[in-house]
Amino acid sequence: MTVGVTEKGRGRAAGLAVLDWIAMSEQPIPPLSGASTGPEPATELASDVASRLKRDDHGLVAAVIQQHDTGEVLMLGWMDDEALRRTLTTGRVTFWSRSRQEYWRKGDTSGHVQWVKSVALDCDGDALLVRVDQVGAACHTGTRTCFDGRELPAVVGSRDAGPAAAEELTADDTTTEGAR
Ligand SMILES: [Zn+2]
Repeated sequence: MTVGVTEKGRGRAAGLAVLDWIAMSEQPIPPLSGASTGPEPATELASDVASRLKRDDHGLVAAVIQQHDTGEVLMLGWMDDEALRRTLTTGRVTFWSRSRQEYWRKGDTSGHVQWVKSVALDCDGDALLVRVDQVGAACHTGTRTCFDGRELPAVVGSRDAGPAAAEELTADDTTTEGAR
């Protein structure tokens, strides 16, 4: 035990009570807050990632969550910079809950954890694709995905619909793409 060195390093801030404790202890002394012990863990989203995000008026981007091996689209959530940072750095998906106004790490209360496999940002920076290994149900209602059993009636299109329909689609498509 090197009380002398410790005292020299800490004495000014520590005080006698702590020095007494040091003298009696055989355990290593944890660093005082503010003491430098090496690189701090990142507490902000990397600036090169942050600069590519196109956030909505609430500072959020949509995150599409997909099962990595089956391709199932599981759910959609919202992330701010901090939720994305946690998702990128902890192996678990964290969202910003718009209804509760708090961070929400998926699975903490339900056990339905999402283990991160990959994260991609879309072409214009306003949506994320997070591929995960989903434990149990992704939806809070208990269904595997948020879309199970919730189909809306939709006219089914086909590329083989005929030449007239194909011409119309091509014209619409061009306009839509141009307006993006
Ligand atoms: Zn749901």
